[in-house]
Amino acid sequence: MAKVDVVLHNGVVVTMNAAFDVWEEGAVAVRGREIVAVGPADEITAAYEADETLDCAGRAVIPGLINAHTHVPMSLLRGMADDLRLDVWLLGYMMPVEREFVGPEFCRWGTLLSCVEMVRSGTTCFCDMYYFEDEVAQATVEAGLRAILGETILKFPSPDAASYDESLAYSRDFVERWRGHGLIVPAVAPHAPYTSTVEILQQSAALARRYDVPLLTHFSETADQVEESRRLHGQTPVEYVNGLGLLEAKVIAAHCVHVTEAEMRLLARKRVGVSHNPTSNLKLASGVAPVLRLRQAGVAVGIGTDGPGSNNDQDMFEEMRLAALLPKGVSYDPTALPAREAFAMATIEGARALKLDRLIGSLEPGKRADIAVLDLQGPHLTPRFALGPDSIYSQLVYAAKGSDVRHVLVDGRLLMRERELLTVDEAEVLAEARRIGERINDFVYHREQNLMDKLVALGGLEREETYEIQVKVGIADLAAVEQRLGELDVELVKRSTRQQFDTYFLFDDPQKGYVRYREDNVLVERSDGVERLGPALDVAPEYGLTLIGPTREREYENSVILSRSRFTSPAAHSLRFYREYFQPDRIQEVVKWRTRYRILYQDERFAINLDKLTRPPGGTFLEIKSRTWSQADAVKKAGLISELLELLGVERGEVIRGEYVTFG
Ligand SMILES: [Zn+2]
Repeated sequence: MAKVDVVLHNGVVVTMNAAFDVWEEGAVAVRGREIVAVGPADEITAAYEADETLDCAGRAVIPGLINAHTHVPMSLLRGMADDLRLDVWLLGYMMPVEREFVGPEFCRWGTLLSCVEMVRSGTTCFCDMYYFEDEVAQATVEAGLRAILGETILKFPSPDAASYDESLAYSRDFVERWRGHGLIVPAVAPHAPYTSTVEILQQSAALARRYDVPLLTHFSETADQVEESRRLHGQTPVEYVNGLGLLEAKVIAAHCVHVTEAEMRLLARKRVGVSHNPTSNLKLASGVAPVLRLRQAGVAVGIGTDGPGSNNDQDMFEEMRLAALLPKGVSYDPTALPAREAFAMATIEGARALKLDRLIGSLEPGKRADIAVLDLQGPHLTPRFALGPDSIYSQLVYAAKGSDVRHVLVDGRLLMRERELLTVDEAEVLAEARRIGERINDFVYHREQNLMDKLVALGGLEREETYEIQVKVGIADLAAVEQRLGELDVELVKRSTRQQFDTYFLFDDPQKGYVRYREDNVLVERSDGVERLGPALDVAPEYGLTLIGPTREREYENSVILSRSRFTSPAAHSLRFYREYFQPDRIQEVVKWRTRYRILYQDERFAINLDKLTRPPGGTFLEIKSRTWSQADAVKKAGLISELLELLGVERGEVIRGEYVTFG
């Protein structure tokens, strides 16, 4: 009898070999890191003598599941921000928190936490891109899993690189260090076409080809990304990167939700492996990837969980089930993607997508012993029919759960025996994860209380003068005021007519202040004096965001001096983005026509606004305003505003307090 290290016998052995052989009472013999024999249990036990025999009666022996796309350290961010759109989720939460927290320690514990979760649910191999990937690799090896790992390269600064040159240099070192490792396949990982420059894409491809390692990226996750690519490059993302030579590398692309038939043919021709990530695509409402058509086109499609920030778990059983159900739901065809096909995508086809099918993905002699054993005796798996050879796949895909997994081997090494983890101190990992989680929780909690911190997280903020001196008077006849203004001895710097659409985000807590999103449409602008009026000019609307802190005000002569913190930034995102990001208690819109005069009076600058409100309707107002950093200067300007009022012949009436937004 030949000596082997482990024999798993008496289980239902699901081989996922080319013939899809299933041995109802089968066995697998493992020597060193390889599978040496698979077949009927009596034949295997007669031929091999094992150091360790695992009785798998009432259990299924399957190839370890392959998670084709994830970002493992993000397990530490799971559940932090959910039910948000991709841009708000990514730019408003993930990236600011990552800038603050992601370091070597975060990546180590986040990776170990994910490894614990993956082993417990039967995953033996994963494909990852994140930061501090060296820490990810070390933790993965410690836990004993197999992985393809790539350091993320972005055109913006990342948690471990001030610029992409650093990430590219890191990637080269990383590949050199880990090349040839038994468990780790290093890769080059430009994040996505829309987050890369031409140089990033070309240099990443060159690096991947030079070392003959995979290139990991994201393609066409959302319709917006495709639209932007068409606008910027006149091509879809896959066509665009193909033009840059990216597809000459061994590319593994996540998502491909919005790809055309031509792109699918291109992906197949270039042998690009695709990871389908159904939960992430559903949760971020990105769409449903055309998995059937991709596979028909000849593309190898694996299944991935994507990062735990957008899933939120890494249970491949759940992912397989969704992968099998989604095509049925969208095509009204229950025969679309049968269970066996979904199981293949999580095993042998996933291996093909990751270009590891010569090593893993099926239980066959000569392949690495990456194996999961799961219990089939639970109530949700009872009874079990054996009406056809494919019935086991129904159990595995539609009913089994990660928690049914009992044993896991990777590279012939037992990582879990009867649900006891053998390589990782699970209690320690959970304690560290909770400790880091508490720190993140404090940070986000405090930030959420403070509009300022929220705005800072988005960047591009400028502080404006502390003091605003203003008078606002309801005026019936604006034309008369305008005529008087023309006759005054003031220097007119600029005159403009504009329509302003203001959206105020208001909060129940007045100490929070409020945020104004303004769309400013300048219709006519004239400068250098009233006598030399220029032609009307049409300009695109300007979008600005202003954070107005709690205001302290005091009256001075006819004017009100307001002191408050006030910050402005160009509004780089949509109104919808800011609404979802700030989550105001109330929203109020103010629309007005404004003729604004910028004048110099006694060498001081003032703005004179003649406003006609259309929402809320009614009301014409005269506003005189100035700003300054100095309290003494504010008092002086308040005096000058009084003089101006008098010169304009405005009745000394009651000064109207507050902003238009507070009228409603
Ligand atoms: Zn991803």
